[in-house]
Amino acid sequence: MSISGNIKTIQDKIRETAKRCQRDPDGITLIAVSKKQPIEKIKAAIQAGQKHFGESYVQEALPKITALTSPSLCWHFIGPIQSNKTQWIAENFQWVHSVDRIKIAERLDKQRSPFLPPLHVCIEINIDQEDTKSGITEANIVPLAQAIVGCPRLKLCGLMAIPKFYDTLEEQRGVFQRIKRIFDRLNQKGFALDTLSMGMSHDFQAAILEGATHVRIGTAIFGERSD
Ligand SMILES: *Cc1c(COP(=O)(O)O)cnc(C)c1O
Repeated sequence: MSISGNIKTIQDKIRETAKRCQRDPDGITLIAVSKKQPIEKIKAAIQAGQKHFGESYVQEALPKITALTSPSLCWHFIGPIQSNKTQWIAENFQWVHSVDRIKIAERLDKQRSPFLPPLHVCIEINIDQEDTKSGITEANIVPLAQAIVGCPRLKLCGLMAIPKFYDTLEEQRGVFQRIKRIFDRLNQKGFALDTLSMGMSHDFQAAILEGATHVRIGTAIFGERSD
């Protein structure tokens, strides 16, 4: 299958799934996760009309962003954030999905240029409380959300999560429901979030059924990654 064919197949599934739960498919953004993929494949995706791209490693992403510079593309940082890399993220990305510490938020805020629009931010939540994953625990979200709201160069948009790999649709929906409930609770507290970044190649349909607004899909578009 070609990259353009894969994108079309996924877009069809997004539309079909949105219809199944009476959602507007235009409210769901497909982020093509291009980490560990060569630039030629990204170019093929752009040719197919893809505009949103996700990257996880700063050093790998910068040459790609520089080479593909175009005002119509939107770059999302989705990987773990080291504090010595925040400057590069603040200068080169439009979105960061993986903020999980106040210190990181404060650095991004300080380093975001006043000549750029505010950096769109999601809080990453470690929904299955796995030691191997980054993300904040539910109990600590509110202070982080308040800190981000207090940062003038950041715009708090929503939540991101990478659940465990669940095999069945029921289990997948269960974990996405838990994320949605946390999202709803934050909105009841007045945070006005509109972004739920959840769902990857194997579980994006379950995520859409539970309210995902951004799905992050790598292998189903580009094939296996070269590590
Ligand atoms: C790699 C990655 C993805 C894409 O995963 P696939 O299974 O290849 O679709 C999505 N989100 C994050 C945060 C990732 O690191």
